[in-house]
Amino acid sequence: MQHFVSSFYKFTPISSERTTVLKHELETLAKKYEIQGLMILATEGVNSTVSGIKENVISFIQEVQNLENIGHLETKNSWSDKIPFRRFKVALRNEIVTIGDTALLPNGSHFHLSPEEWEKSIQDPNAVVIDTRNWYETKVGKFKNAVELGINEFQEFPAAIKNLNLKKDAKVLMYCTGGIRCEKAILEMNRQGFENVYQLEGGILKYLEEFPNSQWDGECFVFDHRVAVDQKLEPSKKYGLCSHCGQPSDIKISCIRCDAEATPCEACINLGEFNKTCSKNCAHHYRVRPGKGRRQELESGTRRSLNLAKIRSEEKRTKS
Ligand SMILES: [Zn+2]
Ligand SMILES: [Zn+2]
Repeated sequence: MQHFVSSFYKFTPISSERTTVLKHELETLAKKYEIQGLMILATEGVNSTVSGIKENVISFIQEVQNLENIGHLETKNSWSDKIPFRRFKVALRNEIVTIGDTALLPNGSHFHLSPEEWEKSIQDPNAVVIDTRNWYETKVGKFKNAVELGINEFQEFPAAIKNLNLKKDAKVLMYCTGGIRCEKAILEMNRQGFENVYQLEGGILKYLEEFPNSQWDGECFVFDHRVAVDQKLEPSKKYGLCSHCGQPSDIKISCIRCDAEATPCEACINLGEFNKTCSKNCAHHYRVRPGKGRRQELESGTRRSLNLAKIRSEEKRTKS
């Protein structure tokens, strides 16, 4: 089955009492339309990625727009053949994207560049293009001439900008996955004295809808089971998540304990052979007793003399 995936955010004032009620309203609607995904709610607005059957997702978003305090939502859409989320969750937080300062409150869409405007602007050799995302996201792909900040989380953005020592009158072009981080990043840049700052409206996802295989290099990391989307916004065939540290990895191997497909990252493999495994569980068992699990040993014929019936009954017992 193909899952329709829709992302949207909106900065809109919501009272804290209202967020609690809204959480229930959203949960009811999600149940009605069999929607999965994550919605982050705060007194500053809503930030979300949801998935389901296309017609259902569209109806769900229509009804969400009619809820008090929400209104029109700009969406970014894509498809996934694997289920991007297993359940639906509304999380109540202090910010819908966390820079660690609720005073930075975006209003309106000043200094936004459409994908067409962006496509022209980033080819200006005098512009500084800044990727506001985390290091493991830029590793998967970025704009060809972008400066990476190497941050672990968005809260490190203000300090990372100070460290760049840019000229205050520099023309700065910023982007992120869907645009929401840049909404706050631009305010932080203004606070640090930069006035000539622009952001890519709708982020990488909107850009790739219009300009696949142009200025973007690689794939775009996403925070769901797809791990990344390619230039055509289709789920990545290249990346998986390392089951030991959670970072994206394009190393595909068979687990040295159970033979299942595994995508451990280079950093974890460098920590030891035991991480050439598909899970924390297999890594643990490999450390205790290097080699294949008992079932694999049987399959490879090394211990055929063992009583198979006995093992099968043991397996049955552990499963129940
Ligand atoms: Zn790892
Ligand atoms: Zn395994």
